Amino acid sequence: MREATLKKKILQVVYSYFLFFALVAFLVTCTTMLFVTVLSRSLEIELTGENLNTAAKLTFLNVLLLSVLFTVIDTVRRKLTTEKVTGHIVKAAEKIVKGDFGVRIAPINSLSADENYNVIIDCFNTMASELSSVETLRTDFISNVSHEMKTPLSVIQNYGKLLGAKDLSEEKRLEYAKAVTDSSRRLADMMTNILKLNRLENQKIYPVIKTYDLGEQLCESLLQFEGVWERREIEISTDIEEGVLVSADSELLSLVWNNLFSNAFKFTRDGGSVSLSVKADGEYATVKISDTGCGMTPEVGAHIFEKFYQGDTSHATEGNGLGLALVKRVVDIMRGEIGVESSVGVGTTFTVKIRRAGNGSEETL
Ligand code: ADP
Repeated sequence: MREATLKKKILQVVYSYFLFFALVAFLVTCTTMLFVTVLSRSLEIELTGENLNTAAKLTFLNVLLLSVLFTVIDTVRRKLTTEKVTGHIVKAAEKIVKGDFGVRIAPINSLSADENYNVIIDCFNTMASELSSVETLRTDFISNVSHEMKTPLSVIQNYGKLLGAKDLSEEKRLEYAKAVTDSSRRLADMMTNILKLNRLENQKIYPVIKTYDLGEQLCESLLQFEGVWERREIEISTDIEEGVLVSADSELLSLVWNNLFSNAFKFTRDGGSVSLSVKADGEYATVKISDTGCGMTPEVGAHIFEKFYQGDTSHATEGNGLGLALVKRVVDIMRGEIGVESSVGVGTTFTVKIRRAGNGSEETL
């Protein structure tokens, strides 16, 4: 069936080509005969009808044959230059459609090929490598989430089973119930963070900008941890310059401060200290949050803003490695800067720079 359609198509193409060549040959023959007649008259040469008939037939056939010859040569040329290249591109595009993002097309070195094909090939290869890195991020993200969910889920399952046991002491019942609650809270926190990060990354959150006192916001955020520093006898010191105004989304920025303070307290042993400083620094407001905690190695420091990265596994149950990824995303959205200085056993300082009000922060967001 397909073969018959193909044959019919080829016949149609040949027929239309033949009609075109015949028309061209006819027109060229007419023009030539006209020219020969006029020339013979002016040269006073007598041409018989038979002579003219033979010349017309020869011219017609000549033009017809030459047209066929040139068309064949051009078809072969196109097969070698255009169709070969487009064939490669189509094959590669089909592989991408099937999900094979590793496909790349080699550039064409032939002199006869159109240089524009190399531009298309370049763009194609860039697109393929972008798609493959997005795919890697996606699969990494899925495997990280699944991995992170497994632990609290198995804790819930195990303690749930234990809770069902008969003659359980009151003390044990409370212990198991607490383990279940803690794990489900951890799961809920992780889901909240994933959703927040997802909304921030997809730009579904539009910053609500207002001008406010940064020092006041930082004090409020720090005060939320009062219970922690009192219980664990952590010393607090603050150096806050008055009247440092920023134009930013206060809700988003409070996410930054809460995460940084939460980490500072989490990684500082009892009796240590946490300090906060806020300074106007040219067009920026510079915030420093320091602790005398465990610190981190440069290798850990290089990865802390990655999703699900946890350098310190001893505190793994108190977080999910998403806090600093969120912090970084918010600081980026605010067109700010964040940096960290840390040394193992001595402590850590996070420095965040946010544009002060009236320094173009309103327009850049
Ligand atoms: P989480 O705290 O849930 O592990 P984060 O994204 O907040 O996730 O932090 C990532 C990692 O960065 C932590 O696991 C820890 O290794 C390191 N880190 C962050 N803040 C500090 C700090 N103040 N002191 C030492 N290490 C820190």
